[in-house]
Amino acid sequence: MKYLTFIAATLSFVSAASLGFGADVQPLKALYITGGCCHDYTKQKLIISEGVSARANVTWEIVQEGGNATKHRVSLYEKPGWSKGYDIVVHNECFADIEDPAFIENVLAEHRNGTPAVVIHCTMHTFRSLKTDDWREFLGVKTTHHGPQHPLDVRNLKAESPIMQGFPEVWTTINEELYAIDKVFPTATVLASAMEKKQDKATGKWVDTTKDNPVVWVNQYGKGRVLGTTLAHNNVTMQNTNYMNMMARGILWACDKLDEKGQPKPGYGPAKSAQ
Ligand SMILES: [Zn+2]
Repeated sequence: MKYLTFIAATLSFVSAASLGFGADVQPLKALYITGGCCHDYTKQKLIISEGVSARANVTWEIVQEGGNATKHRVSLYEKPGWSKGYDIVVHNECFADIEDPAFIENVLAEHRNGTPAVVIHCTMHTFRSLKTDDWREFLGVKTTHHGPQHPLDVRNLKAESPIMQGFPEVWTTINEELYAIDKVFPTATVLASAMEKKQDKATGKWVDTTKDNPVVWVNQYGKGRVLGTTLAHNNVTMQNTNYMNMMARGILWACDKLDEKGQPKPGYGPAKSAQ
């Protein structure tokens, strides 16, 4: 019992009851798809997978393809039923210059039919060349660009949401990309936002404009739940406890394994606590 108390206190993320002890509970199987332009995807796949598994009973299969290309077609997406056998797909990819509707529809169909998803950062600009908003309806938002990096004051807009439990009222990041959100689709609910800033030429300080942009949201896409965040370009932002707690809770929520208080449902806390 002493050990249990220690674990719960250390993580402060999970109650003892939710640790991964459940005899009949299988870990959530996550498929993590990554690759493409402009980001440290080799390091980020470890930050996300290790960070989430320290907080929730999740195992990972990771697909990294395409190098730094903007046009690579992830080979798995060509297969019908490509997400079968997985409880959730985490997209952290950056392939902006693909515009093939049939290829993209094969990605979308899985999620519309119920496979939960997490969409991270440049995934919002993936398939940007597609002429329609089909991909954006899945994401929950429309965005096409971002401004210069500056510290973001990320404001928690839904403190009552299970996903945002423990998230501060305001979290100020290091210099980060802020994606300009042109539209939030009616199926989406914004959980956090950050104000675009302008640098004052005289003082060098970054000052708020009036353009507020969603940075964390949830979306319902057909039968599939989606958690979206335009954070984080930089690894340091991703490694932050606020980010990782939100990510782990969001994954559990998308799989319907998060309770109303933001705790993993029984058996879905971190599996390594059972060792
Ligand atoms: Zn970026």
